[in-house]
Amino acid sequence: MPLTRSEATARAAIVDVHSYEVHLDVTAAEETFGARTVVRFGARPGASTFLEFEPVRIQSMTLNGARVPAEAATGGRLELTGLAEENELVVAATMRYSNDGEGLHRYTDPADGNVYLYQHLFINNGGRVLPCFDQPDMKASFQVAVTAPADWKVAANGELISAADGVWRFAPTKPISTYLASLFAGPLHVVTDEHDGIPLALYVRAALAADLDRDAEELFTITKQCLDRYHEMFDIRYPFGHYQQAFAPEFNFGAMEYPGLVVFRDEMIYRSAVTESQRESRANVIAHEMAHMWFGDLVTMAWWDDLWLNESFAEYLGTRVAAEATRFTGAWTTFAMQRKAWGLRADQHPSTHPVAPIEVADTDQALLNFDGISYAKGAATLKQLVAFVGDEAFLAGLNDHFAAHAYGNATLADLLAALTKSSGRDLAGWSDVWLRRAQVNTLRMSLSPAAVEQTAPEGYPTLRPHKIGIGLFDRAPDGSVNRRTTVLAEVDAEPRTLIPAVDGEPAADLVLLNDGDLTYAKIRLDDASTAAVSTVLPLLSDSLARAVLWAATLDAVVDGERPVAELVTLVLTALPVESEVVIVEDVLRATRSLVDRYSTRETRPAALELVAQAADRLLAVSEPGGSRQLAAARGLIGATAQTGRLRGWLAGEGVPEGLAIDDDLRWLILYRLVVLGAADLDGIDAEYARDRSATGAQWAARCRAAVPSAEAKAAAWQSIVADTTLSNRLVEMTASGFWHSEQLDLVAPYVSRYFAEMPAMMRVRSGMSAEKTAKYAYPELSVDPETRRYAAELLAREDLDPILRRVVQDSDDDMRRALQARF
Ligand SMILES: [Zn+2]
Repeated sequence: MPLTRSEATARAAIVDVHSYEVHLDVTAAEETFGARTVVRFGARPGASTFLEFEPVRIQSMTLNGARVPAEAATGGRLELTGLAEENELVVAATMRYSNDGEGLHRYTDPADGNVYLYQHLFINNGGRVLPCFDQPDMKASFQVAVTAPADWKVAANGELISAADGVWRFAPTKPISTYLASLFAGPLHVVTDEHDGIPLALYVRAALAADLDRDAEELFTITKQCLDRYHEMFDIRYPFGHYQQAFAPEFNFGAMEYPGLVVFRDEMIYRSAVTESQRESRANVIAHEMAHMWFGDLVTMAWWDDLWLNESFAEYLGTRVAAEATRFTGAWTTFAMQRKAWGLRADQHPSTHPVAPIEVADTDQALLNFDGISYAKGAATLKQLVAFVGDEAFLAGLNDHFAAHAYGNATLADLLAALTKSSGRDLAGWSDVWLRRAQVNTLRMSLSPAAVEQTAPEGYPTLRPHKIGIGLFDRAPDGSVNRRTTVLAEVDAEPRTLIPAVDGEPAADLVLLNDGDLTYAKIRLDDASTAAVSTVLPLLSDSLARAVLWAATLDAVVDGERPVAELVTLVLTALPVESEVVIVEDVLRATRSLVDRYSTRETRPAALELVAQAADRLLAVSEPGGSRQLAAARGLIGATAQTGRLRGWLAGEGVPEGLAIDDDLRWLILYRLVVLGAADLDGIDAEYARDRSATGAQWAARCRAAVPSAEAKAAAWQSIVADTTLSNRLVEMTASGFWHSEQLDLVAPYVSRYFAEMPAMMRVRSGMSAEKTAKYAYPELSVDPETRRYAAELLAREDLDPILRRVVQDSDDDMRRALQARF
């Protein structure tokens, strides 16, 4: 049952929670574990309240020494009446493990049969582990003990006090929100270090021990660099004692910012070759989660409507600190290319919402707002805010904010008050148009006279002030295209702003609007610059400028302003000379997706062949063993129809020098062969026998869903909609392997079945796992008015689950664009 905002407000007014003492026994059974909890809290005498609590069985339950009947716990809540001024609730109960990544997730590693547990209570799953007041503004100290098998290790938020006779005891934490309480347990492999007085640790399951050891130095180096940078920026030192980072199997998020014990998905411990941009992305996540130690953990939003206070700041600071403190100096290029596109897409969907909504009604709604708007648009908005008030005032405001609300909660109004004071600027108008209003403006450059035209989408008439860079680029005698100057301009919240400084400059070969990527908007160049993109882009020396140009080009194709065929031609000429790996990866991925959805059955094979050719050309000129080579090889594998060549690579024939056909690349090749009908279930079984690992099991599930036979599709579909024995990750992999533009006739019956059967799927899966399954299983490749009719029928149902409603609404909107662009 979701918790509503009004319930949370009412409960916080009555109850003041002090501490949780939790003792879990995970030695008992495969399905369940024991939890003994003591909750100490103050209350308004005589009042009633409730805690979130979902036990299988209650052994005993007392409030202030008096027995509470088991019937008080029903429907996910424990109702308490007759509270005293100070209360002690003591509950011993049997609880159920989960396999969907929420609550206490239990995982068996196929590599060695080892069992691992991690606790993820976000967004309101606290009741699946212990009785608790599960809302962000009711902070308390957690004191945890775990009885575990003899060969296990256990890590938790607090520092370890003792580990004897199979009982692991941890020190009480500082006051934290319930959603931030975590633990990770199993026969773990651990590596430790220390920095600036802060104990550091890395945890991973045993099967990944050697892979962690190989990367431990890199992980520690980045961690230390980021800690140092945050300590330079912030007055308050890292506030939670030790800094442990764990890598857990089947984790729903990229990572989660539990104080003292950050948990990442363990795909970030690499067993095969990866690109530098993957390593950059991991460094960015490390920096992002660390930012949360201040923004989110030390000072927490009062309610989920200020979710952006957590995520926008972590995204902004994470990118900034990765760029400033680690070797990944190009982090803002990735942000411009990848993260902003995510924000722009979400912001143009029917489900768009302000960065800071005035009110989020309940935890279900809050979960849906974990999207590109709360992360990427919010971060882009903060980048714009820094350009607006200056960095010194920005950091001074943050430090005042931390000092005022440490170990407590705060709202947007609190933060704006601090920033207004530090900058001396009235931010009310700025925050109203940037934080309180949804959707995105389009900025269009025009020349003679130079002006920026600003438009707003239908239904969202707000225009915004933008601090923006306009880059003037010239062609040098050696052919390269370089920046002559960047004009910094203030674009008014008006339909047209003249930029005389550009008129004062001689004509340029490229006028790049939003040079430096300071603002958040859809960018369209002047006509001459647009026409020059295909010749200029490959020669542009600045990678951030190329990213801005690529992003604008891709966005114009998404909007149907430029044909996908033109994009494919540009990819063929510009990609083979692209040096920035993240641009290579993102352009290949986005182009592949656009070709799948925007080209027709007749034109698609030729378009795909050109994408494969572009990747092949890049492969031919890439340095052996480098990231670009790997990115090119992956792009080629994903688009090519040359099954003979792929089979050869698997057999070690014709492999480009330096390219390792390692476990992950073997699976990628096999997956493509399966999609093309050139490998079957036997081939998948053989590969899984060769690689009986967690990743192998996931790839095998994905490959089985991709087999082009009626039986295989029927089995996969059944798994997607109904099999609750499958874990969150195995369902995701199955759903993501189901649809292929090469198999549209075969999967045609499943288009209508999606709309008929997803409501039932939503009832058997929960939270994030349900949302991801609905997304991955959507028939987005069946770009057809009939698909839209089915969507409209489903959306007309009033009893539709809100999560499914949003997935269908937004996916249908993508299809509307694709259909418009096609015809
Ligand atoms: Zn975050």
